Amino acid sequence: MQFVFDGHNDVLLRLWSHARDGEDPIAEFRDGISTGHIDAPRAKAGGLAGGLCAIYIPSGDLVFAEPDRKGHYVTPLAAPLERAPSLDIANEMAAIALRLDREGVWKLCHSVADIRDSMEKGIFAAVMHMEGCEAIGADLAALETFYAAGLRSLGPVWSRNNVFAHGVPFAYPMSPDTGPGLTDVGFDLIKRCNELGILIDLAHITEKGFWDVAKTTDQPLVASHSNAHALTPVARNLTDRQLDAIRESRGVVGLNYATAMLRGDGRSDANTPIEDMLRHIDYLVERMGIDCVALGSDFDGATIPEGIGDAAGNQRLIAALRNLGYADKDLAKICRENWLRVLASAWGEAGA
Ligand code: ZN
Repeated sequence: MQFVFDGHNDVLLRLWSHARDGEDPIAEFRDGISTGHIDAPRAKAGGLAGGLCAIYIPSGDLVFAEPDRKGHYVTPLAAPLERAPSLDIANEMAAIALRLDREGVWKLCHSVADIRDSMEKGIFAAVMHMEGCEAIGADLAALETFYAAGLRSLGPVWSRNNVFAHGVPFAYPMSPDTGPGLTDVGFDLIKRCNELGILIDLAHITEKGFWDVAKTTDQPLVASHSNAHALTPVARNLTDRQLDAIRESRGVVGLNYATAMLRGDGRSDANTPIEDMLRHIDYLVERMGIDCVALGSDFDGATIPEGIGDAAGNQRLIAALRNLGYADKDLAKICRENWLRVLASAWGEAGA
């Protein structure tokens, strides 16, 4: 089995929301449940050995727009969030991540050595990620605190604007060039992440923001869960120019399993064949080379193809890639080695 280190999941969001309903998040992850996508038993069954686990503040009032007759839709950006309640939620999610680590249910990893070690031991290798930095103020004080708690990756912005950057809406068809990029404090955030060794994720940022980060950061460029705009022209996907810049930086794109970002018609529909995932992988590999393509499932955060189903079905994608002719050494890169190389680089580790 090819073990997978995956670039994006929202399992902390699910555990947090169930905890608010009185469930025990530790037991839920350890013992498994029948809904959602990731828990320890299903991760083990599907060779999902670890991944970037997002702290994400939900936009409660966001309603996804219905497609028109042509299948076109534009969901307006969610409203900006207040910082104080966002910080409360981020603290609660980080606490779940820390408790899972303390109880030995998963390992909260701070280095690539940590990730490899827990993969070998069969313990889920979690990296704390923040998807949209509403919990962090312009003074970046909370960045220091979350770093101390294990934060090693962040996307400055989700699909709503904040003090750091502007996000792209969920829209089809639409260019990712939908507005301004980083703010002044957004540039400060990028520089501080470079100093601390926190990976910067370009998923959800506008194209202008992408180029702002590209000219500021000394890290490889990374989009943890995005696909090819040429195949599925949603604003969340990456143009060929963006893919070329990622390749030149020796960065990585994690394939997003969200059906709305895989299908040619941009619709969200679980009845989407695995072939749509393969088309995107092939395209990304052709454009960027085998060293820059990885996985970023969006498990627990998206409608994914029913042929995958959940984390337990992850190896069906790997089997399909093998059938297409991908050799084991290439599959190892897509499944984990490209992510581990980029993390080592962003974290300032030797051998990157
Ligand atoms: Zn996302």
